[in-house]
Amino acid sequence: MIADKLGFDPSRCFINGAWVPPHDGRTVRLENPSTGETIGTIARGGTKDIDSAVQAAQSALNGQWGATTALERGRLLTRIGQRVLENVDLLAELEAADVGKPLTQARNDAIALARYMEFYGGATDKVHGETIPYLDGYTVYTLREPHGVTGHIVPWNYPMQIIGRSVGAALAMGNAAVLKPAEEACLTALAFAAIAHEAGLPQGALNVVPGLGEEAGAALTAHAGVNHISFTGSVGVGALVQSAAARNVAPVTLELGGKSPQIVFDDADIDKALPFLVNAGIQNAGQTCSASSRILVQRGIYDDVVARMSERYKALRVGPAADDLDVGPLISARQKEIVSGFLDVARADNLTIAAQGQIVGNAPDTGHYVAPSLLVGVSPDHPLAQDEIFGPVQVVLPFDTEEEAIAIANGTEFGLVAGIWTRDGGRQMRLAKAVRSGQIFINNYGAGGGVELPFGGVGKSGHGREKGFEALYGFSVLKTVAAHHG
Ligand code: NAD
Repeated sequence: MIADKLGFDPSRCFINGAWVPPHDGRTVRLENPSTGETIGTIARGGTKDIDSAVQAAQSALNGQWGATTALERGRLLTRIGQRVLENVDLLAELEAADVGKPLTQARNDAIALARYMEFYGGATDKVHGETIPYLDGYTVYTLREPHGVTGHIVPWNYPMQIIGRSVGAALAMGNAAVLKPAEEACLTALAFAAIAHEAGLPQGALNVVPGLGEEAGAALTAHAGVNHISFTGSVGVGALVQSAAARNVAPVTLELGGKSPQIVFDDADIDKALPFLVNAGIQNAGQTCSASSRILVQRGIYDDVVARMSERYKALRVGPAADDLDVGPLISARQKEIVSGFLDVARADNLTIAAQGQIVGNAPDTGHYVAPSLLVGVSPDHPLAQDEIFGPVQVVLPFDTEEEAIAIANGTEFGLVAGIWTRDGGRQMRLAKAVRSGQIFINNYGAGGGVELPFGGVGKSGHGREKGFEALYGFSVLKTVAAHHG
């Protein structure tokens, strides 16, 4: 049992600096997606637990946490980042077992969590208000203040990175957080709370209530004591969260799904592009909001790019997270069913599977493995080219002109990330403006994790921005002070 490695009982909630059992004692089974085995139980928190967590957060704001200076918060977050780095191996092992992420990827996520703490730790005392020229006899200035209690609902695919960017920025601005991790994977959320507390985070500043979305998650979004909600997850649930928050007029940041394109022109450096084209589709078994699931290729180089991507696909090896191969399992039997369903549609509609990766022989049948699949012959309006599959499936679409590439790129309801591959500087600038997307990468894609880079979507990919400095504005409110002194 993975719980043996932890210094706490993962079937408890972390509220007001203490490990407390959920009010009605219920738990949820935690599964290792690589094997299908049970690795422990977590709390199935509900309305009463959320209420206790919100009260603890409110008390923290009225107590020691609310009295911290920006400098103190900065030092504390930096210290938490250091402790995270000291615990990278444990965190990576937990994430690999819980999410099915190959160990190297899980380790990178733990390092990214530390990096968020360092970045936001360094930023706390650099967010300023401003003075505003006004009428004669006035001095007007603005203050940036915390919202108060912030609610954070996190999915299972990148728990550590998403906690880092959302809880890290919220704490930096002096908010007190209530975190509801995903029921499928929440060990690192609990471990992070333990690490942060040990590093000196005052009680109540961060509370964690695991549980089901429709129970603990819904209770958090509907709670009148929550002053801001950060939600990362699916479009459908995002809309529910926004509706619930609207009843309390609470602001919401929605980080939702995507169908992100990479556009490859015939003058591009294909050798440089190739690893990005494939990795951006298969990383974390394609269960990445910013996965590049559509590859648009100019017709003159289309066959060559498909052939070279196919070679890479055939070399991909899929297996247990602990074996640290290219691709791990999907998170659950349900997710495997969804992704396999898309591949069934592809076969039924006579789309061509140009190449597939290999599931290794020792991958247990009880794990949730799907072979990465590269599809061609797909029309841009086909569901395979429109819907977020959330699995290791990419489609390669040909185009002739720049205008056509832009039309296809913009032809879904999403707009999260886009990549543009061309050596033509003018075209780079034109496309960066014309493609509807929260982030654009030119001659790279999703490089370096982007802790410093504002991130978020347009259209059904959501609204609001996390990561970078921009998140600090989102996790604070601006107060205008107008002093009349004659
Ligand atoms: P999901 O929406 O099912 O669940 C996400 C979280 O919401 C979980 O913690 C879940 O318990 C909770 N939840 C579910 N129902 C709820 C409800 N009624 N009220 C409140 N909370 C509720 O999403 P998922 O399947 O876990 O994650 C995959 C989705 O997340 C994909 O669409 C992916 O693109 C998106 N995602 C987006 C980003 C981003 O930054 N844009 C990052 C990661 C994942």
